[in-house]
Amino acid sequence: MRARVLILWVAVAAAAGVLSVAQVRRCPHATFDRSADARRVEAIPVERLLRDPAALLVDARRQREAVCIAGYSRARAVLSLAAFVFAPIAFMLLGWHRALERLLPGAPRPARYAVIGALLSLWLWVWGVPFDVAGVLVARALGLSRESAATFLSNESAALGLQLLAGAVLAQAISTLRRPRWSLRIAAVLAPFAVFVAIVVPLWIAPLFNSYRPMPASPLRDAIERQAQRAGLLHARIFETNLSAQSELANAFVFGFWKTQRIVVGDTLLQRYGRDDVLFVLAHEMGHAVHGDVYRGVFWSWLLGCASIVLIELLEPRRLRPLPPERRAIGLLAMAAVLAVLAQPLGNALSRRVEHRADAYALTLNGDRAAGVRTFVRFADEGFGQLCPPRWATLFFGTHPPLGERIAFMQNLPDDCH
Ligand SMILES: [Zn+2]
Repeated sequence: MRARVLILWVAVAAAAGVLSVAQVRRCPHATFDRSADARRVEAIPVERLLRDPAALLVDARRQREAVCIAGYSRARAVLSLAAFVFAPIAFMLLGWHRALERLLPGAPRPARYAVIGALLSLWLWVWGVPFDVAGVLVARALGLSRESAATFLSNESAALGLQLLAGAVLAQAISTLRRPRWSLRIAAVLAPFAVFVAIVVPLWIAPLFNSYRPMPASPLRDAIERQAQRAGLLHARIFETNLSAQSELANAFVFGFWKTQRIVVGDTLLQRYGRDDVLFVLAHEMGHAVHGDVYRGVFWSWLLGCASIVLIELLEPRRLRPLPPERRAIGLLAMAAVLAVLAQPLGNALSRRVEHRADAYALTLNGDRAAGVRTFVRFADEGFGQLCPPRWATLFFGTHPPLGERIAFMQNLPDDCH
């Protein structure tokens, strides 16, 4: 059995590799000059931006490549979900769940559970790492990333360290498995934990990967602050981050709680996009801040998490219940992995709604429809963004509405994706 599981892992890793090589080889991508594309899009007259279908505004050749590239990315994403679901099952097939009961027999329970949690996190990481490596190599080959091997390794080890720590903390839940209605007890503890994570991540975790500093004074910052005041965000903190350390793509986001909430602009956006386009993107981000989307996000992920845990308790097979809690935990983890994949369309649907509302807010606050279209056209060109992905792909992987839909919405035209 050990050999079979090893062969399967090698097969999964090899499949991730083959898909990545095929993606880079079979989706020929012409050299793409970002500044030339920026000049091309900026030269499109406003009337055309507001009237032409998205397919006529984007770089047609780049969009054909995007369709090919997205196909392979989705195949890899599906495979990675399958590997994620299979990981705990593989652990049981190896019979390692039995060994967990005998682990560190003299040690106090919290320490034993912490070790078990860290081991399981490591096991999940082992099944995910081929996809992390493939993702970075493909992004580099496609010119979407300039992450070096050294940065990748240091980021990956930091992420692994955090994952082990999270596993060690979450595994403390094993001690409640013997109690009646254990799922409700875990759900109650998860609420403060989710808030704690949402506060800690921006302040201490994100700076491990990128630098964050208040945006230096400039006419653009003044314009951003005026826009923030119009949005009613009187104490908005505008930060700048070096996303260019990992990515070539432009981005901005909001994170943090209450007084530590920040609107963060990537250097990639600041350096390569015009003033009006940056203001538009930030109007979208201000929409998130005004609607309290960070808090809603924490609440919804907590609620979805709770619903999954309660469902796991209800659906737990009878023969799992009398087992020692360490062994039972692996079976429950396997159920949790399946539920997490099944819940993905629901989480994404919520996320797409939130993103659409932020787009709508950007239009009321900033009103510059042309800047919105220009930005999304450049996102599609630069990031190989497929304008209209297949419906199932949007359901399973779309955290944002497809760019074709977003462009049509900016133009106030019917969306030509459907
Ligand atoms: Zn957004």
